[in-house]
Amino acid sequence: MKIECPCCQSDLIDTKNYGKKTGGAVGAVAGAAAGAAGASTGAEIGATAGMIAGPVGIAIGGITGAILGGLLGGAAGCATGSAVGEVIDENILDNYYCRTCGHSFSCKRNQ
Ligand SMILES: [Zn+2]
Repeated sequence: MKIECPCCQSDLIDTKNYGKKTGGAVGAVAGAAAGAAGASTGAEIGATAGMIAGPVGIAIGGITGAILGGLLGGAAGCATGSAVGEVIDENILDNYYCRTCGHSFSCKRNQ
């Protein structure tokens, strides 16, 4: 889709994506925090599974479960935050910037 500046009809348009970037970062932090909460559950599951292999298995299983819980939470949160941020970019912020005249404007997709 070709986007033109509403002021000067230039097609040298940049997207700012502030919301997407911010949302992704915030989502990653929030997701990691939620993942950390889930990490203790992951650690328990890992430790339980590791019991089969004895004390060493419990330790390794617990650590692996905790790390996986944190990582998965962070990745999921980042994806969710980016998606939310994109919606904010599209609907609330002036996400487009004209490099010819410096005008910022919003332009909904599929128009
Ligand atoms: Zn312009």
